[in-house]
Amino acid sequence: MDLATLLTRRASQTPPRYRDLCANCRKMVSTCYCATLRPFQSPVDFVILQHEAEARNAIATARMAHLSIRNSQLIVGRSFHDHALVNSMIASPLQRNVMLFPSADAMPIETLFAAPQHLDPRPLVFWVLDAKWAQVPKMLRLSPNLRQIPMVKFKPESASRFRLRHQPEPAYLSTLESIHLVIDRLLQCTGQQSDDHHALLDVFQAFVRQQLDFVDPTRPTRHQVAKALRRARRGAQSSTTGR
Ligand SMILES: [Zn+2]
Repeated sequence: MDLATLLTRRASQTPPRYRDLCANCRKMVSTCYCATLRPFQSPVDFVILQHEAEARNAIATARMAHLSIRNSQLIVGRSFHDHALVNSMIASPLQRNVMLFPSADAMPIETLFAAPQHLDPRPLVFWVLDAKWAQVPKMLRLSPNLRQIPMVKFKPESASRFRLRHQPEPAYLSTLESIHLVIDRLLQCTGQQSDDHHALLDVFQAFVRQQLDFVDPTRPTRHQVAKALRRARRGAQSSTTGR
């Protein structure tokens, strides 16, 4: 698509209206992925804390993971320090909280899963932070309550399949891929058999394929469009003023 065609098309478009968004996945109806979701019950619960800036990101995967896992919660915010539900879950003696975060003293996930269940029979709840890597330290600084949660880490075996976003290192995975890996390692370590969790990767891959189909290498960049719009405005002004 050339720039002139894009500008003409843009001028004829109206901004997206609320009713054009899917109420479930919050995507435009044209990019809604709900038909590919296969919700399942995970062997561990998940609490996904999503940075509010990430909630506006068109290609964030946290909501996709939440909609796929029946026993998951998605909580959006910037600081969770005074969040009543977050604090009640952290304080609950009825659950065993762990946070997926690669801090220096984090326990390897295999050690957590290899420990006999009778040592702590409470249901495991995995907390996952969904934010850009640069935002995560600030998120933890603003929410000291989260730092009470014991941290666990893993080493991914393969690079992220998320080709739409730049990951700082190949070993970094998207939120959805990290959650898939947690369930995968749990099943491996405990000898349980289930393929339900692969539904996560299926919806994710279908979405990535669809987004890559939308990428048109001939499409002008946002910078080129802005520059052309400025030039067009200047041209309109000078023709109005006669200069
Ligand atoms: Zn949808």
